[in-house]
Amino acid sequence: MKKIAIIGGGIVGATAAYLLSKQADYSVCLFDDEQGQATKAAAGIISPWLSKRRNQRWYTLAKDGAVFISQLAKETHMQSDTYIQSGTIITRKSKESLDELESLAQDRKKEAPLMGKIKRVTSDEIKQKIPLVTANLQGIYVSGGARIDGQKFVTHLLRLSEQNGVQVKHEKVALVDDQTIQFNGHLVHFDDIFLCAGHGINDLLAPLNYEVKVYPQKGQLIELRVPAYPDDRVSPVLMPESEKDFMPVGNGQLIIGATHENGPGTDLTFTQEAFQELLASAQRIDNHLSENDLVANRVGTRSFSDDFSPFFGRLPGSKHILVASGLGSSGLTTGPIVAKLVTSLLEHDDGFSNYQKPITTYISKKG
Ligand SMILES: Cc1cc2nc3c(=O)[nH]c(=O)nc-3n(C[C@H](O)[C@H](O)[C@H](O)COP(=O)(O)OP(=O)(O)OC[C@H]3O[C@@H](n4cnc5c(N)ncnc54)[C@H](O)[C@@H]3O)c2cc1C
Repeated sequence: MKKIAIIGGGIVGATAAYLLSKQADYSVCLFDDEQGQATKAAAGIISPWLSKRRNQRWYTLAKDGAVFISQLAKETHMQSDTYIQSGTIITRKSKESLDELESLAQDRKKEAPLMGKIKRVTSDEIKQKIPLVTANLQGIYVSGGARIDGQKFVTHLLRLSEQNGVQVKHEKVALVDDQTIQFNGHLVHFDDIFLCAGHGINDLLAPLNYEVKVYPQKGQLIELRVPAYPDDRVSPVLMPESEKDFMPVGNGQLIIGATHENGPGTDLTFTQEAFQELLASAQRIDNHLSENDLVANRVGTRSFSDDFSPFFGRLPGSKHILVASGLGSSGLTTGPIVAKLVTSLLEHDDGFSNYQKPITTYISKKG
């Protein structure tokens, strides 16, 4: 039986642990220090099809990623508070932009049946679907858009993994060489090690003399109380043009997010500036909201690469280390499929050139 270590218990690590736990050939130990985990802070929108990004490899990965998440949710019997196909509404201010978006949606649907029904929605129709909205908006409704709760998703997969024998340790670890991990004063040998530690990959690989072009980005979001909103109503996620995403998630709760702050990087302080920016955006959509509606905030650290693309695979020059990082602002969408692709490398090698540039674009040995 092969001994595998997974370093990082966000969406990539938790999915990898679950997938490996279903195979008898592996004994798996997952380490996570829960510092600024992006997965737990994330908004949870799974709707990549109408993104403005024109990176074809990223799009293919995100499109296939959305399908894989829906399969994983079904296979593991996720509850509706963890994964739900709530639908998504993306708005545009001008008729020309809306026409363009609708034609992109129809085109993309040919290869993405998960998108489901596509419909142009008027201001009244948006207000019917999301009664909180007071602004006059127009957009495209995509019925297959989904949202997940990152924290519940990870907890669910780790619980199943533990039932299948995976050990989960809440420890910060360091790499000693490409088969040895140090934690809590111990050195432990593994056959293979999977680093899915977000931007923490930099510190982990520094002792092995690697340079990784990945950077931390701070993301903040707020949860507002909307008590008058019915508990059992499933509303689409609203992605209003030039505003923050607006997500009624049931239980009288509304999520508004998120900020993208490169300067503060790993700082996890919730700031008044972010609160005011997020609230002001939310108020332009629902003019009843006020400061008093704040119930919670979330702050996490995304990892991003120079071209904002995830990178994953075998560490160049190593037979035993696998890596995944740089998932950026769409890592809940791409994380599970990245975990599936990387764990498949334990059986057979592949560079995944349809999904990413060569991994040496992002990681190299110094000197
Ligand atoms: C505010 C916000 C909103 C977002 N919204 C969305 C969204 O709507 N849709 C979407 O698709 N994506 C979204 N994202 C992006 C998404 O959350 C991330 O890309 C994704 O969660 C990254 O997953 P990961 O497993 O790679 O890393 P993470 O979730 O960051 O997990 C890495 C883990 O590794 C641990 N670690 C690091 N170093 C060590 C070490 N030495 N020892 C032990 N553990 C270590 C960390 O503590 C962390 O728990 C959002 C992100 C943020 C911050």
